[in-house]
Amino acid sequence: MFGMTVILAIANQKGGVGKTTTAVNTSAVLAQIGKRVLLVDLDPQGNATMGSGVDKQSLDETVYHVLIGEKDIVSSIAQSTCGYDVLPSNRDLIGAELDLVSMKRREFRLADALTDVKNKYDFIFIDCPPSLSLLTLNGLCAARGILIPMQCEYFALEGLSDLINSVRRVHANLNTNLDTVGLLRVMYDPRATLSQQVSNQLKTYFGKKVFSTIIPRNVRLAEAPSYGLPAVMYDKASRGSKAYVEFAEELLGRVTTNSIDRSLVE
Ligand code: ATP
Ligand code: MG
Repeated sequence: MFGMTVILAIANQKGGVGKTTTAVNTSAVLAQIGKRVLLVDLDPQGNATMGSGVDKQSLDETVYHVLIGEKDIVSSIAQSTCGYDVLPSNRDLIGAELDLVSMKRREFRLADALTDVKNKYDFIFIDCPPSLSLLTLNGLCAARGILIPMQCEYFALEGLSDLINSVRRVHANLNTNLDTVGLLRVMYDPRATLSQQVSNQLKTYFGKKVFSTIIPRNVRLAEAPSYGLPAVMYDKASRGSKAYVEFAEELLGRVTTNSIDRSLVE
């Protein structure tokens, strides 16, 4: 059901819920098994860029220059040391929001740019910023599916309806191809009753759309970015890394079968 290139936006407007951690580790696992992967950093924080070992300070070309049409995407893509390519980002991207407003096809700038390179990749992951901004819209309009990392804590469900409403609006008005690939439970603490309760609630509301794999809270996942490496490369024996390997396998299964239902977007 997905075309040759699977393009997934990793989004949640809540900050610090594991979007970037999911983006870099999933990219690395898929690269390790021979998939050609591009990671698009759509966040001015540049965490996915740094977490892939690409120095965000020293970049002449970033996703910003691509979005505003100043640079060609091919020359802006950097090779990481992690087996996948990165369309990097840094603070320059803060200006994009204003620059894009008056541009034509402002929601489709990333989608249009990716047309030129997508055949080179099996997977393209788009790490979205923690907002429902024009940048995130560009991510959702370029993607075939959205992947939502969720922290199993009390307020987790609160922002979810806003996100799902945005996804529905994008689906209805801008990108009829967009599907919800699934919700991924992250930073899970099995000892916390609350974690279990929220996790069960997610299952009840969203059923099959919740991935079976659960990413535990694991300090290795938090340490790895300071070494410019995904945890699956920094310490592949850690519990967090093993969970991301398992998740990548589950994701592969999902995008290559017809198991995605569209009820979230329709
Ligand atoms: P932002 O919204 O700011 O872009 P994000 O949603 O991309 O944040 P991350 O940067 O992936 O979230 O994670 C937030 C913090 O939590 C980081 O310091 C990260 O290293 C840490 N972290 C992510 N996942 C886990 C985990 N499973 N266990 C422990 N720490 C984690
Ligand atoms: Mg992030």
